[in-house]
Amino acid sequence: MKAFDLSGRVAIVTGGNGGIGFGMAKGLAEAGAAVAVAGRNAEKSARAVAELKALGAKAIAVSADVTREADCAAMVAATVQAFGRLDILVNNAGINIRKAPQDLAAAEWESVLSTNLSAAFLASKAAYPEMQRQGGGKIINVGSMMSLFGAGFAVAYGASKGGIVQMSKGLASAWARDNIQVNAVLPGWIDTDLTRRAREQLPRLHDSVLSRTPAGRWGTGEDMAGVAVFLASPASDFVTGAAIPVDGGYSAQG
Ligand code: NDP
Repeated sequence: MKAFDLSGRVAIVTGGNGGIGFGMAKGLAEAGAAVAVAGRNAEKSARAVAELKALGAKAIAVSADVTREADCAAMVAATVQAFGRLDILVNNAGINIRKAPQDLAAAEWESVLSTNLSAAFLASKAAYPEMQRQGGGKIINVGSMMSLFGAGFAVAYGASKGGIVQMSKGLASAWARDNIQVNAVLPGWIDTDLTRRAREQLPRLHDSVLSRTPAGRWGTGEDMAGVAVFLASPASDFVTGAAIPVDGGYSAQG
């Protein structure tokens, strides 16, 4: 279907070198987009780029710590230099520090908020002039089930992911007249490095996710590809400020 075709479009996926980000990057590449994979780990990024190129896609790795405003600007500049434009920004980079809130240091709080929320703002701000100049764009922010629910072991993470939804609504309102759509996706429990670490820390997590998720399974990076293509494509031109769960029904069930 033409409305989902991303041929000639250019995307940046932060943290696109693994997990959910790579699942989304692969979906965008398969739909025809050129993809810049942005991350700190050069080896992981090189592997992801090789996989995208093996699919026949154009792809580059961009080294960036998205908590730094200068890196966000350089990431956009490197992408535009390589591919001539920027149509799609996926703010996916994220971390979690699992601790009781009374044990969470101020620096740990700052680090989670800075990576998961402030970086998405800084990257969006860096992308805006390019998108505005060319008459439109798509920004996809990655939230979480913790955008909706609280978790005692992840208070900073929940605050950052709740913020992602409100920030998406604000940017969507600010930039709608520039034809820039800004949406959030809220993944359920997805099998990635991040949640592998969580399962090591929380032994009952694996089974409780299985029993709490109506689909009866953990999600995969590939499960995130379809929503990324939809929100990156003309098919979603009248969708902005939305927060879409992709969770096997996790948030639908009381
Ligand atoms: P991963 O740990 O596999 O991926 C996180 C990515 O973020 C890595 O590729 C990492 O790249 C990148 N990253 C982290 N910090 C920075 C930084 N400062 N600058 C640039 N890149 C950075 O985890 P997931 O794939 O699971 O997580 C991806 C997103 O999805 C996160 O926002 C997470 O909160 C969210 N999410 C995950 C869920 C899950 O169940 N897995 C559920 C809901 C939301 P590098 O190592 O190169 O820095």
